[in-house]
Amino acid sequence: MRIDIITALPDLVASPLSHSIVGRARTSGLLDVHVHDLRDFGSGRYRQIDDEPYGGGAGMVLQAEPLFACLEAVMNESPDIPVDEVIYMTPDTQVLTQATVNALTLSSRLVIIAGHYKGIDQRVRDAVVTMEISIGDYVLSGGELPACVLVDALARLIPGVISDAESALTDSFQDGLLDAPMYTRPASFRGMDVPDVLMSGNHEVIREWRDRMRMEKTRRIRPDLLEE
Ligand code: SAH
Repeated sequence: MRIDIITALPDLVASPLSHSIVGRARTSGLLDVHVHDLRDFGSGRYRQIDDEPYGGGAGMVLQAEPLFACLEAVMNESPDIPVDEVIYMTPDTQVLTQATVNALTLSSRLVIIAGHYKGIDQRVRDAVVTMEISIGDYVLSGGELPACVLVDALARLIPGVISDAESALTDSFQDGLLDAPMYTRPASFRGMDVPDVLMSGNHEVIREWRDRMRMEKTRRIRPDLLEE
């Protein structure tokens, strides 16, 4: 899968996309991430990319012109790999779910736009963005971290990235439930013991216990998931 990220702060996405599972996915060639600096497409001596909002008010808006120019340049790179979605990370839309992440893993190429300040000119959203994603009902200062969140969620589902494929499939949300409690050595720690069932070696009984825990935990903490 190829992912192009358009941002005014390329340094901000460098580290989160260089470590752990995402980093390994990239070095192994299973994930190809390209970061594009929006400022390269700015105008004038100061490579301007933002301006005051029409109608007044505080904050700056990323201009349509550099965003269109950058998008066109990105599309012209590797035109043989068709772009499945042009995604704008923004709080004023539906919140990302595991189902959406799963569906996006079928893409061969995604372009992600990170906004800044007050956001981006609406004409970019109307004309070129095909999908909008929020990572939660709160406002961050830029779309870089949200873009990294999306790339991480995708990377771990690409076949071959996580060695034990079953691990990703038994995580929270994959079947609408939260994950079961996990324990590792030692069996007894400061008077707190690991549940006996997990030490039993009986996989059938362990599976039933985990299923029961997942159901109980979901009912207690996220009953809304059961209603869906
Ligand atoms: N004026 C906008 C907020 C802009 S925040 C509004 O009230 O809806 C600046 C940028 O940060 C946005 O363009 C977006 O790219 C990013 N951002 C902030 N919060 C986000 C969230 N919850 N999910 C995804 N992107 C977010």
